Amino acid sequence: MMDFPLTLDVILRRAVATHGQREVVTKRDDGTWHRYTYADMERRARQLAVALQKLGIEPGDRVATICWNHYAHLEAYFAIPCSGAVLHTINPRLHEDDLVYVMNEAEDRIVIVDQTMYAVLEKVLDRVSLEHIIVFSAEGNVPEGTLDYDTLVEGTDAQDYEFPEMEERQAAAMCYTSGTTGRPKGVLYSHRSIVLHTFGSSLSSAMSVQESDSILPVVPMFHVNAWGLPYTCAMLGAKLVFPGRHLDSESLLDAFEREKVTVSAGVPTIWIPLLDKLNECPDQYDLSALHTLIVGGSAAPKRLMTELEDRHNIRLLHAWGMTETTPLGTVATLRPCHAKLSEDQQHAVRLRQGHAVPFVEIRARGDEGIVPWNGKTMGELEVRGPWIAGSYYKRPDAAEQFTDDGWFRTGDIVTIDASGSMKIEDRSKDLIKSGGEWISSIDLENTLMSHPAVAEAAVIAIPHVKWTERPLAVVVTREGNHVSEAELKEYLLPLVAKWWIPDAFEFVEAIPKTATGKFKKLALREQFAGKS
Ligand code: AMP
Repeated sequence: MMDFPLTLDVILRRAVATHGQREVVTKRDDGTWHRYTYADMERRARQLAVALQKLGIEPGDRVATICWNHYAHLEAYFAIPCSGAVLHTINPRLHEDDLVYVMNEAEDRIVIVDQTMYAVLEKVLDRVSLEHIIVFSAEGNVPEGTLDYDTLVEGTDAQDYEFPEMEERQAAAMCYTSGTTGRPKGVLYSHRSIVLHTFGSSLSSAMSVQESDSILPVVPMFHVNAWGLPYTCAMLGAKLVFPGRHLDSESLLDAFEREKVTVSAGVPTIWIPLLDKLNECPDQYDLSALHTLIVGGSAAPKRLMTELEDRHNIRLLHAWGMTETTPLGTVATLRPCHAKLSEDQQHAVRLRQGHAVPFVEIRARGDEGIVPWNGKTMGELEVRGPWIAGSYYKRPDAAEQFTDDGWFRTGDIVTIDASGSMKIEDRSKDLIKSGGEWISSIDLENTLMSHPAVAEAAVIAIPHVKWTERPLAVVVTREGNHVSEAELKEYLLPLVAKWWIPDAFEFVEAIPKTATGKFKKLALREQFAGKS
């Protein structure tokens, strides 16, 4: 067989050759829509590549982006890696010190930044050593000393430019973990790992991406490549719909209707208010094209699945992944072995994090070694595969996150059932140990969030003299609703073990979130440290 490299330029060539006229549409900052095709995107990606080279970028150099999901970001997604450089997507919600840390550690030479995010960058400019700042703006009046993205791209002749040949194992992109503890850690994705992830994630037993789909990634392109969807859509010819910075429920529903979106992907904190909006006015939007919402990043609450399906005929597809796993690791689809289960049991299967996608291998390790796949014994999830990180960037001190035989230790505490379906019980640091037994904070949170008056619930451990730790629930009530501690305890009684019921409830306006929309339990633990 030929030794044919698995590199991203092959995806780009295919995007032009077989579906060059498929559309890529973006909602601009001002609410108007930008439309062009994959062929247009490829032309501008080559122009951007040449422009970056003229600015001094060489193979292996890091070029950062601080951008929302839009067509220019897609151009950078191809231009930077296909010219041999490394795309470093930066999460603008990082704390300032972490932003400085990641830019300096990655040694970013150039950054492409949205004008609307320029303020984020401006605050740290004197602490990083960038050579050029390229600003993507609607009007073109960019800050002094910076370059305007469109002028730069359109002013560059790339007619005869061809992307260079590359090694499939060279770095294509990098992303930092969101760093809930300690400094963020960098993960380098190779061309080969992204290409294989693109194949693996598009399978029907995974995200099942089709050419006929119109896909709107709500998951940000600044975190784990928007779950790989930009590359998957480009390879298969699915229409891409970018929401820009319009991520509120009304804007998303409007975009779903207008662009006949069939599939969208996001974290639960995006889908929960969107479901509420749909419940409020079920007939306002024509969502007949929309068949699947992919959810991941945090566990999907049951109500989200049942109400989306029963009331709105939209399937919820639950998936699990991490920055270190590119990200797709497991997906909860129904398989032939689940065919005879009741509807309720099928829901339970689909609310687990699911089976590993092909070429990802999973196992869990407890105190006494690798745990049996019996759906009961908990252990820390370990994974390996061609798109799982083998180390962190410049962090030999993080070697303990890899086992001696080369598996990645995820920090997620899971059970795996006999069919290979994995369920996350908790993050290892979030589990609550009460009287020698484990309480899953995730299960408690999801059960609480299935109460109609509860918008959000996070459960943390507080120290207890007798039981070592006991759960404390931090609750945000749905607008216009009221619920008391006693009512919540009564609600939980038939649903969880009696000793799981939190001793204390705190009602708050909002739960602090991490840069990627997960509950910031560290902050909650600090806030409620005195409670016991
Ligand atoms: P990140 O690297 O920021 O994407 O975070 C990865 C972590 O998010 C995982 O280790 C899990 O703890 C959590 N996570 C991701 N997907 C899910 C899911 N479907 N259910 C529960 N937790 C999830």
